[in-house]
Amino acid sequence: MITLFSPSPVEQISFDNYTLFLKRDDLLHPDFSGNKARKFHYFLQNDFPDIKKIVSYGSAQSNAMYSLSVLAKMRGWEFEYYVDHVAEYLKENPHGNYKAALENHTIFQMRNEELGMRNEEAVLFIEEGGRQKEAEFGIEILAQEILDWQKEKGIEALNIFLPSGTGTTALFLQKSLLTLDASRFTHVYTCACVGDDAYLKKQFFELEEDEKYHPCILSLEKKHHFGKLYRDNYEIWLKLQQQTGVVFDLLYDPLGWRTLLAHPEVMSKPTLYIHQGGVLGNESMLLRYERKYKNIEN
Ligand SMILES: *Cc1c(COP(=O)(O)O)cnc(C)c1O
Repeated sequence: MITLFSPSPVEQISFDNYTLFLKRDDLLHPDFSGNKARKFHYFLQNDFPDIKKIVSYGSAQSNAMYSLSVLAKMRGWEFEYYVDHVAEYLKENPHGNYKAALENHTIFQMRNEELGMRNEEAVLFIEEGGRQKEAEFGIEILAQEILDWQKEKGIEALNIFLPSGTGTTALFLQKSLLTLDASRFTHVYTCACVGDDAYLKKQFFELEEDEKYHPCILSLEKKHHFGKLYRDNYEIWLKLQQQTGVVFDLLYDPLGWRTLLAHPEVMSKPTLYIHQGGVLGNESMLLRYERKYKNIEN
């Protein structure tokens, strides 16, 4: 069974003359960490005597895919994962999440229409990126850890920032914080890394109709495409590592930090940034960045 290193530690960091707190969810477990460990916590904690297999879908480099492969391995289940395609280069030179998922015996399948309708009894079906209601279970534990820490530190008003993909983590975090302790309104701020603000808002509505529970979406003026290489992203990632000694993820965190720095008013209150893991996925992004921006000195 997996035991998570929980509550995850909170550190104080300084970055670009700001002092913030950092919730190290990347340290929850060496193989099962970050927000995917929170989102899939429910499936660790409960018994599923009839389940023999997990079925999910998404990209061949996804953090969720790797975490599900770990979950399946630990529980003795099969893991079948549907992709639209696997790049030739990746097939020939497996690395990052793809390689790690293969090592955990993930069965890769090409995606087809019927996937969404699979209703076999022994199958646990997981939405892309773990966007489902069971995620609330683990994220509520995260919220409780934060509230306990806040009390211990005597912090009355706290702002929280975390970058979003599907928005599941940010939404359930804001909701849990409000539900667990309505007396201190802890604000959750986020930014849309996949799709635009309208997409993210739509995701929030799908999980929760009451807007009172929605996090506040911050953005940059320029449009951002998920997974694309940006010099600004690579530079802030290097700078974060230099100034804080912490390795962040290369897909979400660079945009997260750039967005937070563009809204300094958020940091006028004590601010907690959540490190959501995903560092294994850096391998493939780093290969691409290093090829493109060889001349940037670390
Ligand atoms: C999956 C992931 C996210 C996005 O989480 P959502 O709940 O889909 O918003 C952010 N950061 C990292 C490192 C992730 O792995």
